[in-house]
Amino acid sequence: MNESSAPVRQPAGKPYVLDVRAFGRRPGTSTQVHRTVAAPERIGVDLVGIDAGEEIDLDLKVQAVSEGILVTGTVSADTTGQCARCLGDVSGALNLFLTELFAYPDSETDKTTDDDEMYRVEDDMIDLEQAIIDAVGMELDLDPVCSENCPGLCQGCGERLADLEPGHKHEVIDPRWAGLAKFASADGEDTK
Ligand SMILES: [Zn+2]
Ligand SMILES: [Zn+2]
Repeated sequence: MNESSAPVRQPAGKPYVLDVRAFGRRPGTSTQVHRTVAAPERIGVDLVGIDAGEEIDLDLKVQAVSEGILVTGTVSADTTGQCARCLGDVSGALNLFLTELFAYPDSETDKTTDDDEMYRVEDDMIDLEQAIIDAVGMELDLDPVCSENCPGLCQGCGERLADLEPGHKHEVIDPRWAGLAKFASADGEDTK
């Protein structure tokens, strides 16, 4: 393939959309895109994700191939969430490698794939938003922890064990006696 470069334009007000008309569908034509965009919504789940409005750094190669536009490169952003063990706040960073083909309409790939399997080039434009949301969703660590040895929560009182005195514990009542204890208090307080 002959490597040549052509500019991509960005339609006003659409930070995730790239206009690749200048590529003229010539395979090998490519450009580098370095851009910081704002997350359009919280991406991820409550436990871990990129906050709405958070900066997402894109460092991408956008390249025409025979079947469409191939986008490869890194997507990075800070993440926020909760420790899966103690529910404390956790902040982190996500750095993923994106590889996504946007098929040309009327290409073989376009004809042989469903809409939900493959992104498309539409009106000589590609929209990275959903591709990034999907890639981030697959990359997120769904069990974030505040520290590798986070002890989690006390089973007895629900407090973070890391915040409690060493050796913190509760009197454990044997369940067989718990039943009797209930009778005892009922006898004592409710004598109607
Ligand atoms: Zn924790
Ligand atoms: Zn406790």
